[in-house]
Amino acid sequence: MKEIILIKNGELALKGLNRSVFEDKMIKNIRRRLADLGKVTFFKSQSTVTVYPDSEAFDLDEAVERIGKIFGIAAYSRAAVAPKDFEEIKRICPAYFAGSVYGCKTFKVEAKRSDKRFPLKSPEICRELGAVMLENYPFLKVDVHHPDLTITVEIRDKEAYIRGNQLKGAGGMPVGTSGKGAVLMSGGIDSPVAAYMMARRGLELCAVHFAAPPYTSELAENKVKLLTEKVAAYAGRVELYIVPFTKIQETIRDDCPEEYFTIIMRRLMMDIAGTIAAKHGARALITGESLGQVASQTLRALACTDDAAAYPVLRPLIGMDKNDIVEIARKIDTFETSILPYEDCCTVFTPKHPNTKPELENVVHAQQQVDWSEMIAQALEQTKVVVIG
Ligand code: ATP
Ligand code: MG
Repeated sequence: MKEIILIKNGELALKGLNRSVFEDKMIKNIRRRLADLGKVTFFKSQSTVTVYPDSEAFDLDEAVERIGKIFGIAAYSRAAVAPKDFEEIKRICPAYFAGSVYGCKTFKVEAKRSDKRFPLKSPEICRELGAVMLENYPFLKVDVHHPDLTITVEIRDKEAYIRGNQLKGAGGMPVGTSGKGAVLMSGGIDSPVAAYMMARRGLELCAVHFAAPPYTSELAENKVKLLTEKVAAYAGRVELYIVPFTKIQETIRDDCPEEYFTIIMRRLMMDIAGTIAAKHGARALITGESLGQVASQTLRALACTDDAAAYPVLRPLIGMDKNDIVEIARKIDTFETSILPYEDCCTVFTPKHPNTKPELENVVHAQQQVDWSEMIAQALEQTKVVVIG
């Protein structure tokens, strides 16, 4: 049986030019995400995009799995293709649901006739197909208000599509429609969630990770790669920049006041991430910070961090509780990886008494006692890039 995928756009309020930019970007993203599965053709009509595999060998299960993670999609479903012959439709419809109908008690049939020349009117299609379903599956009952299964038959120009319940899409806006951002990616729970949330608002991502070998291990780096891969299932291709940060951190430990260790480290991270962002066309920095979570995430500390950032710092988790963040981390399958117990560079030289109310002026003064330019240049020069997704 020939099957296709029907996709409904999200953000339906978009109109005119915006809408076609949105839709074209969404199709481009879907095309790229399905490229290795085989050739497909796309058809656009109103707010539906039809994904039509060119060959029967196309792995539709995998395609559907991937489409569930592509932003900009409100809803999607697979559908059987039938010729525009009602006898054929009556034959294909019960056969198509043979694998899924046994979990349902109630159903209804809906018809959409975009080809008005089709000999049967919508109510007739519904009535007759309903009867065929009841004949084949006598345990079913019709419920027009809250059915377990809604069968929709669409009579299009050239053929008819038969589909069951729609699945909820990943929502948001197509990646790339909001520009590009650089996410500061630690190995923790928060930053992959922050990355996911900003990709959902249409940002294309690159990621910057600071590693401090030998204080942090190869395992920690692999963990960050794996987290980036999981984010890339939603965000598409992500370039991951791994910045060697050891020399800078040792200098902070040796030459800066202990109460400002973390805040100066975070300012230097912003500085370096900003340079990487600039080089790669990203115009925002993204972090997993949440107000009050740790000493470096108080209002005063955030102000000190912002001061060192060349671009707006987007903090989608700023007002969220840890529980809510964990819930999203589980949903996007990053949680189990995030809690693997490898050291992050942040936890290497943590001060015993961090200043939770740092004055910007004092922090800047302390930071200026060291000339960082050479160290920063060297870290940038030795930065590795890994392309993920
Ligand atoms: P996470 O769970 O993301 O590690 P956290 O609650 O542990 O966050 P911090 O360690 O203070 O918080 O880090 C705050 C934010 O700074 C992180 O969400 C991340 O965006 C960034 N960050 C921290 N460590 C690194 C790192 N090694 N490389 C890149 N970014 C980092
Ligand atoms: Mg962390």
